[in-house]
Amino acid sequence: MIRDALARLAEKRLTRWTALALVGALAGVLSVAALWAAYVSIRDWQFRDLDEQARRNLDLYAVELGLTLAQFEAVPDLIAKHPAIVSFMSGSKDDPVEVERLNRLLETMNAEVGSSDVYVMDRTGMTFIASNWRSAAPFVGKSFEYRPYFRQALAGGRGRFFGLGTTSGVRGHFFSAPVRDGLGRIIGVVAVKVPSGPLEDLWNAPGTLIVTDELGIVFLSSDPAWVYGALSEVTESGMAQLIATRRYDLEKVRPLPIRIQAQLPLGALVEPEEGSPALLDGEHLMVSRKVPVMAATGTVLVPTADARFRSLMLTLLTGFAVASLWLVALALVQYQQNLSQRRRFEAERAKHLEEWAGELEARVVERTRELRQANDALSVEIGERESMADRLRAMQGDLIQSEKLAALGKISAGINHELNQPIGAVLAYADNARKFLERGMNDRAEENLKEIAELCDRMGRIVRDLKVYSRQEPVTVEVLGLRKPLGSALRILRHRISDLGVEVTGLETVPDIQVLGAETGLTQVLTNLVSNAADAMAENDGPRRLTVSVDWPDLSTITVILADTGPGIPEESQERLFDPFFSTKKGEKGMGLGLAISRNVMRSFGGDLSARNRPDGGAAFYISLKRAVPMSAVAE
Ligand code: ADP
Repeated sequence: MIRDALARLAEKRLTRWTALALVGALAGVLSVAALWAAYVSIRDWQFRDLDEQARRNLDLYAVELGLTLAQFEAVPDLIAKHPAIVSFMSGSKDDPVEVERLNRLLETMNAEVGSSDVYVMDRTGMTFIASNWRSAAPFVGKSFEYRPYFRQALAGGRGRFFGLGTTSGVRGHFFSAPVRDGLGRIIGVVAVKVPSGPLEDLWNAPGTLIVTDELGIVFLSSDPAWVYGALSEVTESGMAQLIATRRYDLEKVRPLPIRIQAQLPLGALVEPEEGSPALLDGEHLMVSRKVPVMAATGTVLVPTADARFRSLMLTLLTGFAVASLWLVALALVQYQQNLSQRRRFEAERAKHLEEWAGELEARVVERTRELRQANDALSVEIGERESMADRLRAMQGDLIQSEKLAALGKISAGINHELNQPIGAVLAYADNARKFLERGMNDRAEENLKEIAELCDRMGRIVRDLKVYSRQEPVTVEVLGLRKPLGSALRILRHRISDLGVEVTGLETVPDIQVLGAETGLTQVLTNLVSNAADAMAENDGPRRLTVSVDWPDLSTITVILADTGPGIPEESQERLFDPFFSTKKGEKGMGLGLAISRNVMRSFGGDLSARNRPDGGAAFYISLKRAVPMSAVAE
């Protein structure tokens, strides 16, 4: 069962973890998607920016190109209208002096205008005069009838063409105009060639500029490596046209090793084709614009690496900023939650405390009430106890009284027994004495009277002892030292002790401690006990030794032990030992009141008296006394 619960718990935890993992994964995917989306839009924005810049630069270039070319636009017309040229072209054209003069004229004009060549052809395209008449490859004697600019001028219009110079091998822009005679007939064509170098130099913006003709072939570029490259495949008719016009060096025309990677709304992303000599270093944005002045297309290729890097950085920054904002928001929410939780907790705690205080107060009231009740009950009980103690005391009194009566009965019997015999003896002695006196035997009579006196004395003693036993008046208990009564008792009996050869030992172990008692009474008890011991040991032939020692049964009591080497107390006597008139002593020796009186005396001191046989023979008497100052108090 427990295992099931644990399994369920584990499962729950597992599902919770799984849910957490799923939420985490989802959040991760969403974050990545959001970052990617951010990156794409930032990148597009960067590309748009690049595109706009490129377009602006292209427009600027086109304007400058137009302005530059416009300078040359009207030049062929002006030259064609020069009277010397018109007259020369109208004539035989074979006067060498005239030819040289005009060659020089054209040379000057060419230098003035800033073109690379100026030359004049007749209607067949044959060149008669040229500014480069003195160069290594002069145009003079060459026919350009295949060039479109010649044909356009011969047809009466202004001609314009760009292409590779077939004689010079230099690319250039050709302008042309017809030479007309006085009647307006076309008698020749003037051509001005402008080199492409300065046109290419006009480009000073970032990226690579290429200008392509209607076939897509590069004829101007800021980078010479691009020239004659074809952006798209040249069609057959295009090829035929190229051949007919001898526009470019056909051997150099080749497809450009770049491929369009993506077509963007404005431009296109291009990258170098694999395995071909790289014209481009990595991905570029390609932006094109018509250049109307040349009926061509201008294209700029700008590297995108910077834009991509900027986009990445901006995306990361955005992500970081968003994450920071989220964290701050989360922290704020958490803080708010903690705050409200703590407030709730504190409110609850205050409520609990209040409840608890109330409860405590109620409990205190209840407890006080209970205590008062208990106190009242105790008072009642104390009262009851007191009255019971009174009753008990009364009962005890009664009991003592009845005990006394019982004892009186015993004593009466004892007295009867004890006194009857001496009284009988007294009567007998008195009778004898009277008889001896009658006979005049005074000595004998005196002996008998003496006996009588002794017997009376004995009887007197018995009565005296009985008086002690039955004494009613309370004993006056005082504080006394223990050693003094002990010493007195031994002193009283010293003759007997020494006569019997009794050795008394252990006296020094008895401390002179303060006890409660009466000196006379205690001396009497001790004398009685030592005397009994002496009597007992007198029956023995062995060593006679009386050993005194002390014991401390409790802090407030001291027990003096008197142990003898006598025969001990016979089994059958033990119960009756302290009964009045119990004695084992023969004849008149003992009356059996000693121990009974002694115990009474000891009890009247608050102490006690008891006896028991010692394991190694002999009897031992235990005299217990209350200490005047309890041990603990002494210790202090
Ligand atoms: P009494 O000495 O007159 O006999 P006690 O009351 O003093 O009366 O003693 C009662 C009896 O207790 C004695 O007769 C004796 O048998 C016994 N007794 C007392 N002391 C000793 C003792 N030290 N050894 C043995 N018996 C004892």
